[in-house]
Amino acid sequence: MTGESQARGVRLRGLVRLQRRLQSRLRELAAPEAGVKQRSDSIEAVHGEILEQLAEVGVLLERAGVGPETLPDPSRRAYQWLSYLADEPRLREHLHTLRLAMQVDPRPRIEITHLPGLYRGFRDGDDIRLSISEGFLMAPADVIASLVKLTLPYTRKKQHKAAVHAFAESAAFRNRLQAVEQAGGAVPAPRTAGRTHDLEAIFLSVNRDYFDGRLGMPRIQWNHISTLREFGRFEPATDTIVLSRRLDAPDVPEQVVAYVLYHELLHRVLGAQREGDRRRYHTPNFGRAEKRFRGYKQAEDFLNALSHRGRQYSLTAKMD
Ligand SMILES: [Zn+2]
Repeated sequence: MTGESQARGVRLRGLVRLQRRLQSRLRELAAPEAGVKQRSDSIEAVHGEILEQLAEVGVLLERAGVGPETLPDPSRRAYQWLSYLADEPRLREHLHTLRLAMQVDPRPRIEITHLPGLYRGFRDGDDIRLSISEGFLMAPADVIASLVKLTLPYTRKKQHKAAVHAFAESAAFRNRLQAVEQAGGAVPAPRTAGRTHDLEAIFLSVNRDYFDGRLGMPRIQWNHISTLREFGRFEPATDTIVLSRRLDAPDVPEQVVAYVLYHELLHRVLGAQREGDRRRYHTPNFGRAEKRFRGYKQAEDFLNALSHRGRQYSLTAKMD
C-alpha cells in the first residue's frame, strides 16, 4: 500500500483493494465445506494480516500528519471496517454471520461490509452478488436468510423486506453500526455549526423546552446540498438527523430550524406505527405532538413559502 498526499488530503491506494482480497479469503473460510478439506488459510492468519495492514496505514497517516477522518469516503469506510475487525472476537462473529448467509443459498457471492445503506444486491444471470451492512452482524438467522432471499430470482420479496427493515430499526443494529463508525477513531467531524445556525445549540434549547432535557444528542448535520423538496430527515439506523443546507441562511429564522429539528426528534421519539406491512410515521398522535411547537403555524407557513419559491418543486414542505 502506498500513500499519496494531495491538496485535499491523503489517499491510500490499495485500501479498498486490500478489503476486497480479505473479503474473498473470508468467503473461503466460511464456505460450507470448511473443516472437511485441508485448509491453508485460517482466521488467525486473516486477523494477523488485518493488524499488519492497519499498522502500515497508521504509519502512512502519521507521516502525512492527518487523521483517518480525512480519507475519501470509500477508503474511510474500508479503514473503519478493518479497524472494527481487528478485534478477533468480532472477526469470529463476522465469519459466523457470513457462514449463516452462505448456507441460505450457495449462488450469491456474499460479503459483509461497511455500507452506507442496509444492503446492496446485484444480479446479472448467474452472477449474483450481495453486500450486507456490518450492522447485521449476529442478527437472527431468519433476518440473514431474508437478506439473501432478497437477491435471489423468483422469490416473493415483501415479507423479507419487512424483516430486514424491522431489524435495521433495532438498538442492536444501531449499536453495531455506531461501533463500526467509531472504529479506528475515523468518525467524520459532524457539521453541526453552520454558517448561520448552530444545530447543537438549537438542539439543546429544543430538548430543554419540549423534552425536559431528557433526550441524548443524536448525530445532527447539515446536508451537503441545499434541498427544497426535503427540509429534514431522520435516519434511525445511524441515529442521524440531516437538515437541508437551504435552512442555514440569514433569511431563515432560527425558530424555523428549531421546528424542523423538533419534527425530526419527534420521529426519533415516537417511531413508527405498524399497519400490516406498512409503517406510518405521521400518525394523528404525531400531528398533535407537532402542534405543541410554539410558532407551529408560522414555521409551517414559512417552509411552504420557501419550498414554493424554488418553482420547480411545487410540493409543500416535506419532512420525512
Ligand atoms: Zn416527518
